[in-house]
Amino acid sequence: MDHFLYKDGELHAEDVPLREIAVAVGTPFYCYSSATLTRHFQLFEEALSGREHLICFAIKSLSNQAILRLLGALGAGMDVVSGGEYRRARAAGVPGERIVFSGVGKTRVEMAYALGQGIRQFNVESAEELALLSQVAASMGTRAPITLRVNPDVDARTHEKIATGRKEDKFGVPISRAREIYAEAAALPGIEVVGIDVHIGSQLTDLAPFEAAFTKIVELTHLLRADGHPIRRLDLGGGLGIPYTQSNEAPPLPLEYGAMIKRVVGDLDVEIEIEPGRLISGNAGILVASVLYLKQGEGRDFLILDAAMNDLIRPAMYGAHHDIIPVIEPAPGVARAPVDIVGPVCESGDTFAKQRAMPPLAPDALVAFRSAGAYGAVMASEYNSRPLVPEVLVHRDQYAVIRPRPSFDEMINRDTLPPWLETAPATASDEDG
Ligand SMILES: *Cc1c(COP(=O)(O)O)cnc(C)c1O
Repeated sequence: MDHFLYKDGELHAEDVPLREIAVAVGTPFYCYSSATLTRHFQLFEEALSGREHLICFAIKSLSNQAILRLLGALGAGMDVVSGGEYRRARAAGVPGERIVFSGVGKTRVEMAYALGQGIRQFNVESAEELALLSQVAASMGTRAPITLRVNPDVDARTHEKIATGRKEDKFGVPISRAREIYAEAAALPGIEVVGIDVHIGSQLTDLAPFEAAFTKIVELTHLLRADGHPIRRLDLGGGLGIPYTQSNEAPPLPLEYGAMIKRVVGDLDVEIEIEPGRLISGNAGILVASVLYLKQGEGRDFLILDAAMNDLIRPAMYGAHHDIIPVIEPAPGVARAPVDIVGPVCESGDTFAKQRAMPPLAPDALVAFRSAGAYGAVMASEYNSRPLVPEVLVHRDQYAVIRPRPSFDEMINRDTLPPWLETAPATASDEDG
């Protein structure tokens, strides 16, 4: 359940009519529900209750300061994948001891910064990274707490671009080499082994691949402990999928996921970490857009919106489905007709849906893309010089803009001219003298 529902014939975010926000902010904009974010976080808390655990929100899915502040205040840790995300987490008030640093390409500068400012652990993805991290930590007179991200070679059976746990994927170290690399880690002066990490992909709609991976991690824990490594934490990654349509079969619930984890981990004395992103943020956000035109094509009609692929790239990038619903509730039984729903960007890929059955929508009608909270605003760009899409957070009957739309001047003035181009351009007649 989320908190985007029709009330009195129009779509609300909690108790705020979206039409009201659209009038004040203009479209397109993202809108998030505090109640949904809170609820999703609490579902994981309940799912892991009774076991020592930390839920680290994967902030690459949604990284606005207001969202991090809200989740941080609930006790969330954060999973970051860059120095920028680390700074975002800290700026939102999350202490270093609740931040885990993931990613295959951490730089020396990022390592030193996080070590200096405080970090729970680095999830190290290669022997090469381990060596560099040890060097950086030792030069600072400290030891970096680490887990090794192990690639368990299981197929998450998800979209090609978001599967990360097969042996051909770039992530982690092969599980077959884990003992060898842990032995290397133990010998390094700047490294302190604290656990094992695994993350096999995103938008998983079945628990079986998770269970296969976690079972291998539990077996590995026994082996590594026998080798003398103090494995006290298992970071089991993120990846639990969400329903993107109201019709299809529902993915497992956090409670089922948690029960499976407890069953697989059993009485092993470890702290559990998980790194959910999409399940917390995905259905907590929508993208609201206006209809510009209903264009009659040859044999096909196009609904042209003022939102485009630069605002929400998931359909273009992953072929992702988003339910798109009118903000004014259609009359029951109203006729629906197939349309291609597209944006204004000059690319055929700027298509949100093909031949989607939609009720009649006139220019200026508002529509909402559901399930757009995760990997939406964070992937937005200014392609076609469309100012970066704003974000709004709702809390009961209040709302606030949590990232304003930049003005055209702000957008243009981010560019700077080199000195040799600073004078006004010569016109043809100047050149002619
Ligand atoms: C992307 C990612 C996550 C979050 O994935 P979701 O599918 O959004 O839950 C967690 N951990 C790591 C290492 C990731 O790369």
